[in-house]
Amino acid sequence: MRFRAELEPLSPYNPPRASQEAAAERGTGGLVKLTSNELSFGPIPEAEAALAEALPRANRYPDRYAAALREAVAAANPGSDVGNVLVGNGSSEVLQNLLMLVERPGEVLFPWPTFTLYLSIAATLGLRARRVPLTEEHRVKPEALLSAVTEETRAVILCNPNNPTGTHLALEEVRALADGLPENVLLILDEAYQEFVADPAYHGSHALALERPNVAVARTFSKAHGLAGFRVGYGIASRRIADYAERVRFPFSVNLAAQVAAAASMRAREKIQARAGFVIRERERVERAFREAKLNYVPSQGNFVLVETSPALFERAGVLVREGDPLGYPGWSRVTIGNTQENDLVIGALG
Ligand code: PMP
Repeated sequence: MRFRAELEPLSPYNPPRASQEAAAERGTGGLVKLTSNELSFGPIPEAEAALAEALPRANRYPDRYAAALREAVAAANPGSDVGNVLVGNGSSEVLQNLLMLVERPGEVLFPWPTFTLYLSIAATLGLRARRVPLTEEHRVKPEALLSAVTEETRAVILCNPNNPTGTHLALEEVRALADGLPENVLLILDEAYQEFVADPAYHGSHALALERPNVAVARTFSKAHGLAGFRVGYGIASRRIADYAERVRFPFSVNLAAQVAAAASMRAREKIQARAGFVIRERERVERAFREAKLNYVPSQGNFVLVETSPALFERAGVLVREGDPLGYPGWSRVTIGNTQENDLVIGALG
């Protein structure tokens, strides 16, 4: 039996060190997990109530179109309607469905380092991946992306803000990037962390996606909404992109629990935004502590901060953080912003 050669370089997902494993080594329990950019709070009460209400209906398949979820997303993104909304099993599926639409053979371009899932989706779908280095300030340089485009380029993925650096492009810069791309290149804006962006010049990409035939935004309920365990994400794009994305989507990929919890959470989005505001303030507190400890860090617009120090520093204080090595930053750590006590532990580790 021979398998596709392009799958050879892929390794199974290598999760961050599990807390149990590290706790066992350390001989104590209860390590704090700040490895995966999750929220430290559970779903909001509105989402919990929707789940409780849906539970007795678990014997039935969910709405295949996820109409109520799409309506809630459309209402939150002025100018869009349900026909502009994509849904998926996490934004991971939305990204995969979008990349399924482009012609091949071909290549997909993205800044590097960035979210490593793009590499495996590209390989899985038989697209070549080409990485365009970030600047020395860990920023995306739109001109570098544009000059890397070739006849073979089918899609550009911009993780904005970028994981793992937390750096971002303002909307005008994204618009200029879209303007500079050939019309047959799909620009995918991965905005998994958009709720945590404090810069007002960032927001509003959904309008760009609605006005362009080749721009799509992917977002998630896994971060600010605190629903990572249910696996649900969404996208905004032209009707044509949304229509094609629905053609390739696995039937029922968004389960009943995910649909009702996500829709309720989106309807109560001012609460979600308030929680994101807390994360933004805590991020400032953690960054200040890094500054005072004279550590080199990248100012972040995500719910995490990349800092030039070993994960062992935090682990000694009972906090697990993401090792920078597999993220393209050997010797660094990516620290998720947690709740007040968790962030106190992070700051205490520096002393
Ligand atoms: N995009 C980025 C940049 C991420 O960091 C993540 C999760 N770590 C995702 C997408 C995928 O998230 P999900 O599939 O849970 O929506």
